[in-house]
Amino acid sequence: MKKALITGITGQDASYLAEFLLTKGYKVFGTTRRSSTVNNERIEHIQDKITILQGDLLDQGSLSSALLESEPDEVYNLAAQSFVQTSWNQPVLTGEFTALGVTRLLEAIRTVNPKIKFYQASSSEMFGKVTETPQKETTRFHPRSPYGVAKVYGHYITMNYRESFGIFACSGMMFNHESPRRGLEFVTRKISHAVARISLKKQEHLELGALEPKRDWGFAGDYVEAMWLMLQQEKADDYVVAMGENHSVREFLDLAFKTVGISDWSKYVVSNKTSHMRPAEVDYLIGDASKAKKVLGWKPKTSFKELVEMMVKADLVLEKK
Ligand code: GDP
Repeated sequence: MKKALITGITGQDASYLAEFLLTKGYKVFGTTRRSSTVNNERIEHIQDKITILQGDLLDQGSLSSALLESEPDEVYNLAAQSFVQTSWNQPVLTGEFTALGVTRLLEAIRTVNPKIKFYQASSSEMFGKVTETPQKETTRFHPRSPYGVAKVYGHYITMNYRESFGIFACSGMMFNHESPRRGLEFVTRKISHAVARISLKKQEHLELGALEPKRDWGFAGDYVEAMWLMLQQEKADDYVVAMGENHSVREFLDLAFKTVGISDWSKYVVSNKTSHMRPAEVDYLIGDASKAKKVLGWKPKTSFKELVEMMVKADLVLEKK
């Protein structure tokens, strides 16, 4: 039986990856940071099938202990401070988790067992102010937030441990991936949640920032399969994972309101460009996942429209409870 350790086990991606690995017959371990409040909602349904260990990307000893205890074949580093907006308020902490945290984990692997295969969650935010469209593995980075900058470091240190120590370390440059389990601070879930509440007359308005930014949004449940596929190859490498199409916040809104039968949503939405303005924006992300498709045989199963509908329907169920 193969064993996997996932950092950030309470997060969106980790919950889908854990489900996926369980179906593949893995024994799954996950790390969380100690906190006075428990936040296990996303993994409640599988909690009796996985083992939770304490591990903090700020504390290398805790990572080594988690590796010694779980003896994994594969480690998936999905823990991070991952909200772009917050990274301007907490740039140093974002760097500690999202950048140096990767080195701490790689160091723990190198010293405990360098044969462990490693997956790093890299991000389309590394492309930021894009230098070519669509973005692929060779596109030059120009991150636009402390989060993006930290992810670039994480990406390069992963490559460096592969090249320096021969560690089987891969990095998935994943474009935005969403789901009903996305945090409410992200625009997709903020919209699906508000649209469900508006249709149930539990909320009157939805306040957003700019509606023009475009993202290449896919379904998180589809993307975790690519993470696993990367670690099953003969050679460690880096891959872009994306849908290859992008949509504006406005299009997301349109489809979300259509799901509840509202075609003119103008009276429900207030777009306040300054309230959510970021010091620097990433306006036009779109990924080219040809390499992942060709080498890994990966293909997304859920369309953009299906994703939006899935999120709104799930929030309707949640809000009717
Ligand atoms: P990101 O791609 O990781 O930054 O994901 P977000 O969901 O936080 O933001 C996606 C885009 O939606 C960004 O360009 C935001 O500026 C834009 N946006 C517009 N209104 C909002 C809002 O109310 N909240 C958030 N989070 N983003 C918004």
